[in-house]
Amino acid sequence: MIDANKPLADLEEWEDFLKERYPEPNGEQKPFQAVDPEKKKEQFRNYEADARPTVREFYKQNHSHQTYDFVQSKRKDFLALKRREMNIWEALEYLNTLVDDSDPDTDLSQLDHLLQTAEQIRQDGHPNWFILTGLIHDLGKILCLYGEPQWAVVGDTFPVGCGWSEKIVFHKFFELNSDRNQPGFQSRLGVYEKGCGLDKVNMSWGHDEYLYHVTKDYLPKEALYMIRYHSFYPAHRDGEYDYLMNEEDRKMFQWVRAFNPYDLYTKSHKKPDLKELKPFYDDLINQYFPKTLRW
Ligand code: FE
Ligand code: FE
Repeated sequence: MIDANKPLADLEEWEDFLKERYPEPNGEQKPFQAVDPEKKKEQFRNYEADARPTVREFYKQNHSHQTYDFVQSKRKDFLALKRREMNIWEALEYLNTLVDDSDPDTDLSQLDHLLQTAEQIRQDGHPNWFILTGLIHDLGKILCLYGEPQWAVVGDTFPVGCGWSEKIVFHKFFELNSDRNQPGFQSRLGVYEKGCGLDKVNMSWGHDEYLYHVTKDYLPKEALYMIRYHSFYPAHRDGEYDYLMNEEDRKMFQWVRAFNPYDLYTKSHKKPDLKELKPFYDDLINQYFPKTLRW
């Protein structure tokens, strides 16, 4: 039985589906390509046909309910950052109380995913702010712990208030979205101006945008782009919505693309040793963040 309020057994189901759609290129192949020109529309549709019923139901809810007005109301509610005050470790521990019901492949927690992502970035010799971004990039998922439904926390993000790209997975479910009856939202640009820049664009609501607002005063721009747009697969993987971007967005999306493989492909069964790693990450957190943050 699919739980209507919580179709996914856990948030990993969405991420596993991402990996089916964007499989890891093996080392011998051509270098990582964000946009594969050979990928045809029909192939893309097959991922939909093969998706688990839970994943399908999840996208159905996401695409039905993520309207322009819904996004405005969530922004107003959550971006006041009046729910809690926590430092990064407290937030990591809090997120870790989000227990995934059942994931057959892994018994790793949310914190393990974050540590694995960060450790891989560190092993590849990237700068400190990049490593730190790996550690914290999913902290916005604490929205789940506030009782928000899965479809308002995870899922590929997309702009609201303008036409939905054909390349958004399960596009057909937008038939159920009431914004389709708003002519002002249905043109390619909708309420936006060409090249206005993504900062002016309202994205479907979820963990990316929330964490961006929590961290925006403390991290370099590149890190903030990674946090804010890491689920914007229609743009960073499929090259869509270029007409809303400005030159800075285009430049910064290189970083979003650089981050994505660490997010998707670094899961291993080896549980990171928190005790051993903690001093390094304590230092890193203290370099960038104040004693406490508003959430
Ligand atoms: Fe994420
Ligand atoms: Fe992640």
